Amino acid sequence: MVNPTEGISVLIGDTRLTILKGDITTQKVDAIVNAANSRLAGGGGVDGAIHRRGGPQIMEECRKIAAEQGGCPTGQAVVTSAGRLPAKYVIHAVGPIWHGGNRGEPDLLASAYRNSLRCAVDKGARTVALPSISTGAYGYPIDKAARIALSTIKQFIEENKGALDEVRCVLFSDSDFGVYETILPEVIGGQPTCTSAS
Ligand code: ADP
Repeated sequence: MVNPTEGISVLIGDTRLTILKGDITTQKVDAIVNAANSRLAGGGGVDGAIHRRGGPQIMEECRKIAAEQGGCPTGQAVVTSAGRLPAKYVIHAVGPIWHGGNRGEPDLLASAYRNSLRCAVDKGARTVALPSISTGAYGYPIDKAARIALSTIKQFIEENKGALDEVRCVLFSDSDFGVYETILPEVIGGQPTCTSAS
C-alpha cells in the first residue's frame, strides 16, 4: 500500500520527481507555485491558503507587479518572495479556465507549468513544489490536467539537466493523489518507488 503523505518518487536523470498528498504552504522547498488568477488579486483555494499563511507581504508584491505589468497573462508566471512561508519564493502561475478543451486549454496549462519551472530555475531554486493548477475553481478535469502536468514537468527536467534537485507535485486530496498515482507510471514508464519526501 502506498502512503500518499510519504509520496511516490521517480528519478529523471539526477532530478527527483515526487507526487505527494499534502498542503503546499507547509512544504520546505526553495519555491512553491501558486495557482493564481491573471489579476494577481488573490482568491480562494490554494491562492487563499498561500496569502493567509504567508502574510501580507506576498499580496503587496503581487499588487506592485499587477500595477507595473497589468497582471499576469494565462499560461505565464511571476515571482514574489514567500513572506512567512518556509519557502523562499512563491511563483504565481496562471492556468486556463476550462471551457471544454477547445480553447487552447492544454497548451496554456502546459505553458503555466513550464514557465513556473523556468522562473524557479532563473531564481536559482533547486527544489520546487507545485499544486494541481486549474483543477479547482477553474474546473480543468483532473485526469487530463495530471497527464499534462507530469509530462510537461518530465520534459522540462530532461531539457534542463542538473538544474533542479526535486520537483514535487503536492495534491490536496486522496482522490487527486490517486489520479496522479495512476498516471505517473504511464508518463514516466517503469515503476516509481515509494519514498519519504518530507
Ligand atoms: P484554480 O483556480 O487554478 O483551479 P484552485 O486553488 O481552485 O486553483 O485549485 C487548484 C488545486 O489546488 C485544487 O486541486 C485544490 O484542491 C488544490 N489546493 C487547495 N488548497 C491547497 C493547498 N493548501 N495545498 C495544495 N493544494 C491545494
